[in-house]
Amino acid sequence: MTEEYDYDLVVVGGGPAGSSTAFTAAKSGIKVALLEKENSIAETVRTSGVTWIESIKEFGIPDHCYNPIKNFSFVSPNNEVTISDSIATAAVLDVRKTYRWLAHEAEKAGADIFVKININEVIKNENNDIVGVSGTGPNGKIIFHSKVIIDATGFTSVISKAMGFVTQWKRFGAGAEYEAKVENVDPDTWWLMVGQEYTPAGYAWIFPLGNNIVRIGVGVGKPESDVDPTQRLKEILEKQLGPIKKLGKITPIEFHYGLIPNDGLSRKTVFNNLILVGDSAGQANPLVLEGIRYAIKFGRVAGKVASDAIKNKKTDADALYPYEENWRNAIESKINSARKVQDRWIGLSDKEWDKELDIIKELKTEEFLDFIKADFGLSNMLKLAVSHPKLAVRQLFNLVKGK
Ligand SMILES: Cc1cc2nc3c(=O)[nH]c(=O)nc-3n(C[C@H](O)[C@H](O)[C@H](O)COP(=O)(O)OP(=O)(O)OC[C@H]3O[C@@H](n4cnc5c(N)ncnc54)[C@H](O)[C@@H]3O)c2cc1C
Repeated sequence: MTEEYDYDLVVVGGGPAGSSTAFTAAKSGIKVALLEKENSIAETVRTSGVTWIESIKEFGIPDHCYNPIKNFSFVSPNNEVTISDSIATAAVLDVRKTYRWLAHEAEKAGADIFVKININEVIKNENNDIVGVSGTGPNGKIIFHSKVIIDATGFTSVISKAMGFVTQWKRFGAGAEYEAKVENVDPDTWWLMVGQEYTPAGYAWIFPLGNNIVRIGVGVGKPESDVDPTQRLKEILEKQLGPIKKLGKITPIEFHYGLIPNDGLSRKTVFNNLILVGDSAGQANPLVLEGIRYAIKFGRVAGKVASDAIKNKKTDADALYPYEENWRNAIESKINSARKVQDRWIGLSDKEWDKELDIIKELKTEEFLDFIKADFGLSNMLKLAVSHPKLAVRQLFNLVKGK
């Protein structure tokens, strides 16, 4: 028997983008369904979960969901730098707790959450606009009719692909990591490890979660390199490269694997009755491949814009455009600048990485943080590009501002 439902808004995908969209939409009083294909929200973890305390506070994520980070260490084959802050500015999220908290907020606001629902088809009207989705649930075929649909399915972009609006991301990052118990670790310090032995295109990492638990991983840029991140992770663990050696005995608890788009902001993200959010929209900072804060921030915007459109009974691409305008104004120029730095980093040899770390050593803490967060305020960058006391740093900032 086919189950059939009618909602104002159907959100496909229970990651941070989907839950956040469902939250603001339900809060504004419309009827919202959030659909997730796994057995529970965040059953599979596909991310390292690094984000910024400022964003955590903005979203109201509870303190028990993260481990704060004060020190940022980089290591290249023959160089090392640690940038320290007096207060914690970054954090490593307990991903399951955070994603479940986000979904719970949506549920408390009135959204209905359906798990074990794998959506694989779209329903169109006579104009070829989307008006629903269908898939399989615990009891067989299931159909959801809706005024607006949100594609929050992440990298796979299931809904936009089924509509024929997008094709597979061509440039992306592939990452593999272990969450593991270790003997020795400073819970306040993260490590980024660069150079050919760690990864030919990208970086490796150690992110502490507290209680002697860390995430150790390797990211590889595609198509730049054909190295398999899982294989490379095993190799660097066996060789106990760099700071990995200091961790002592490593006992894996869980393995994570994921893909993140890195094609820039190339996609249109509103269509008649359809919005793309989070990774399906390509909203990620390509420098360090982080997208969680954007998924939450712009998910919340999408929920509000969609509910306003539904209440006004006009849900075409024009009515939904304020969402795209909002996120483009907020991050488009920053992401474009970050791409230029990433292009420089992806081609560096080991010797050049050693030198790049010398440049990073010259950055003040706040300059470094703006840089790694891709928070490139243009006036700030112009100032630094012209008047930073160190020539090498001026060159780096010149690159960001586009000269
Ligand atoms: C290795 C790696 C490390 C990363 N590290 C960081 C980091 O440290 N910090 C950071 O900010 N970002 C990081 N990211 C990026 C971050 O994970 C993403 O930007 C973020 O998860 C995007 O959220 P989302 O909700 O758009 O997608 P997702 O988190 O991918 O959520 C999509 C959801 O949709 C569900 N779904 C998919 N298809 C269907 C379907 N057909 N039917 C129903 N449900 C479906 C999935 O099960 C999933 O729950 C990393 C990514 C990778 C790959």
